[in-house]
Amino acid sequence: AKKLGYNYVLEYEPNMAKRLLTTSAMRSNLQEAIDNNELELHYQPIVRSNDQQTIQVEALIRWPQSDGSLIAPDDFIPVAEMTGQIIPLSEWVFKRACEDAVKLQEREPKLRMSVNISALHFNRANFVDFVLNTLAETGCRGTWIELELTESILLEGSQYAIERLQTLRKHGLSIALDDFGTGFSSLSYLKRLPLDVVKIDRSFIAGIRHHKGDRVLIESVIKIAQSLDFAVLAEGIETPQQAEFVTELGCNYLQGYYFGRPMPLKNL
Ligand code: C2E
Ligand code: CA
Ligand code: CA
Ligand code: CA
Repeated sequence: AKKLGYNYVLEYEPNMAKRLLTTSAMRSNLQEAIDNNELELHYQPIVRSNDQQTIQVEALIRWPQSDGSLIAPDDFIPVAEMTGQIIPLSEWVFKRACEDAVKLQEREPKLRMSVNISALHFNRANFVDFVLNTLAETGCRGTWIELELTESILLEGSQYAIERLQTLRKHGLSIALDDFGTGFSSLSYLKRLPLDVVKIDRSFIAGIRHHKGDRVLIESVIKIAQSLDFAVLAEGIETPQQAEFVTELGCNYLQGYYFGRPMPLKNL
């Protein structure tokens, strides 16, 4: 069963009719949130490993509740993908991220923006047009934006996906492969993808302090990414030891609670 949101867990019962009801309750609540512009983007810093300077932020969606709590994306993105609401949601995210990317250009240093893209959105026929139109509308340059995609998106789309990525890169956008190491793509396939950076999933980071096996594993994941000539970002860095360890292994960028949690734009 899908994990449902904070407010919905209370209603959960291992009963199919009930579960459908809660999904449909979430669907209409989510629709209200979209219509009333209640969703928010929070931004998490991404630092360069050599000087730990923040150079980029990742946009992460948040759904504030009337009691002050937040529903996390893992609890509603899957529902939105099931109901089709992911398309307006994802369009809203991209537009807001572009607007905020423009604001971040006034800062010193200027910060680039990473945006998570759902497979369903990426695979829509008009995705590239949507992106280019939104950039024009908001006055955002392509070079200020990085799209984060997962392996499954790229596998589903094959040659089509590759052509889209090439078009987007021609317009200055960069492409990150999210959650690297958790999928099962062949190396020869990954080699063909026009990517700029791979983001090593945080599950590889968690155990490196205590478990030799985990250290060996992350070393080989980093080596694979480097051998494919991609820049490497390590996610989920929570301690200075983890930052030092992956920096020594050659990671170019770092992201995690140690450097900053996701926060509203005004707190950045
Ligand atoms: P992701 O893209 O892999 O995002 C990283 C997640 O790891 C975020 O969770 C972030 O808050 C969390 N994180 C960052 N640093 C640390 C750390 O040091 N330790 C730990 N334990 N966690 C850390 P979040 O914001 O709950 O997002 C979860 C997932 O939801 C994201 O995973 C992404 O797949 C999806 N998501 C978030 N925002 C969007 C969005 O705007 N659009 C789409 N399509 N998906 C989104
Ligand atoms: Ca991401
Ligand atoms: Ca990730
Ligand atoms: Ca993830």
